[in-house]
Amino acid sequence: MTKSPVRHLLVVLGDQLNADSALFDDADPAQDAIWMAEVAGEATHVWSHQSRIALFLAAMRHFAADRRVDGWRVDYRELPERAEEDTLPTLEAALVDAIGRLRPEQVIWVCPGDYRLRQGLKAAVEDAGVPAEERPDRHFLVEESWFAGWAAGRKSLRMEHFYRAQRRRLGVLMDGDQPLGGKFNFDADNRRSFDARGPGLVPEPARFMPDQVTREVIERVSGRFADHPGGEHGALSHFDWAVTPAQAEQALEDFIEQRAQGFGDYQDAMWTDAPWLYHSRLSAALNLKLIDPRRVIAAVEYAFQEGRMPLAAAEGFIRQVLGWREFVRGLYWWAMPDYARGNALEAQEELPGFYWQGRMPGGEPIAMTCLDQALDQTLTLGYAHHIQRLMVTGLFAQLLGVRPQAVHEWYLAIYVDAVEWVELPNVIGMSQYADGGVMASKPYVASGRYVQRMSNYCAHCRFDPGEALGESACPFTTLYWDFLLRHRERFARHPRTALQWKHVERIDAERADAIHGQADSWRELLSRTSATDGRTR
Ligand code: FAD
Ligand code: SF4
Repeated sequence: MTKSPVRHLLVVLGDQLNADSALFDDADPAQDAIWMAEVAGEATHVWSHQSRIALFLAAMRHFAADRRVDGWRVDYRELPERAEEDTLPTLEAALVDAIGRLRPEQVIWVCPGDYRLRQGLKAAVEDAGVPAEERPDRHFLVEESWFAGWAAGRKSLRMEHFYRAQRRRLGVLMDGDQPLGGKFNFDADNRRSFDARGPGLVPEPARFMPDQVTREVIERVSGRFADHPGGEHGALSHFDWAVTPAQAEQALEDFIEQRAQGFGDYQDAMWTDAPWLYHSRLSAALNLKLIDPRRVIAAVEYAFQEGRMPLAAAEGFIRQVLGWREFVRGLYWWAMPDYARGNALEAQEELPGFYWQGRMPGGEPIAMTCLDQALDQTLTLGYAHHIQRLMVTGLFAQLLGVRPQAVHEWYLAIYVDAVEWVELPNVIGMSQYADGGVMASKPYVASGRYVQRMSNYCAHCRFDPGEALGESACPFTTLYWDFLLRHRERFARHPRTALQWKHVERIDAERADAIHGQADSWRELLSRTSATDGRTR
């Protein structure tokens, strides 16, 4: 049976699984077709973690199945089982092929989450000679044009100012024009660590056992991407992420019922073998658009109003979703493509191979307990919480002086929630200070003492976070002082950093040389395990 001609080809990307998106505004199942494609290029342009690939593909297949039930014609390309059979390795090639087969009058898509893809889609459709339309992504609360207007003429872009503007504009946690509780930010109440007894029994987050559709995806991923990160850690056997809107909603409700009360207090805390603690585990569902941020914010605000969540916890959580998440997205589109090339501190080291492999050469475990914990968890689950990403893996890369673009590729590849619009500003701006202060007013650098204060990692480590020199010196502490010394010219007179850099004045030349020497020994040792990505072993 010949299929009817296609009026509009509606492109649904893997992170746009939103049945209410602008794509469907004037769509007609009788004339239009949805197009979706699984392509190897999206898993290999950075050497993606197996769970990240599986999550995207499983959620895409569920979305396609639901739309078929709704009466849509869905042209869905499944990833071929064997690489040799794969004649369409990129999204652009697959789209050109679909245009050739379906001959649509127009191709429509919603703004992608990645600059590279946006350019690729435009070029592919232009080459194919078909009219195209890009529509805004209504999932976000702040439009690109709003952000550009807000950013125009500002000397610096501070999330806190942006966040307050959103609270006022959208009336979230407000009493008229005043913030509930008298202040916009309860961060000072939200920085607790656990005492020696640890977190105790924190309820485990909701888990979603793979159904038949997801199991087929897992099999395909383990076959096609066997040597990707996560493989050696049995990551796919742990796969339990939400892959449908119903599961995302369940994950939200579970978080609010079980763990949200502790979110504020312990959002910065870390503990051995405790990956989730009081975190929501919602980022992947949000970024794939399985759940709307308005729903998440409203649910948290409601829980506070009902007395099921303290104000500091509700505010702290809403600041992440309404503040940071929207802010980094606005910043991304405002500053790309130059933003991705930033390297303000001229960092040139390669990323140590242990970031990809989770072990030293020869299979030795990583002696630094904090890194061993954060990397093992990352490689096994495709997840680490914010402070592990910022103050363990990110901090160590920055102190070593790793090229920011190598750090970016790792983060984009390794976390299940990684999409470039959110990952890149967090890495280039917040974590590596590679944008020279556009996003963060100063580098987030600290010695091993910070890790000691916020976790129990140091108690199980052969290094001493208080020592910068000698056999038992903590590498974070050595590299921290080395960083302060190397960048003193730049930061010693800066109003936001002068206090932190003041301590450097007390270091005499002999001690400074010794610190540089020990820091360089670490660099030398770790460069033996360097890898530009997971393919180099
Ligand atoms: P929770 O701790 O429960 O926080 C609630 C929600 O707030 C998250 O689900 C997320 O949607 C949002 N959020 C919190 N912090 C941020 C932030 N800094 N930027 C944007 N949204 C935020 N987040 C991603 O979604 N994808 C990434 O690729 C990503 N890469 C990061 C890289 C680095 C170097 C750093 C420091 C942070 C990164 N983050 C990223 C932000 C944050 O670490 C994750 O959103 C969070 O750990 C996800 O876990 P959760 O859902 O349990 O979050
Ligand atoms: Fe990490 Fe240093 Fe603490 Fe060891 S002593 S866990 S390396 S911060």
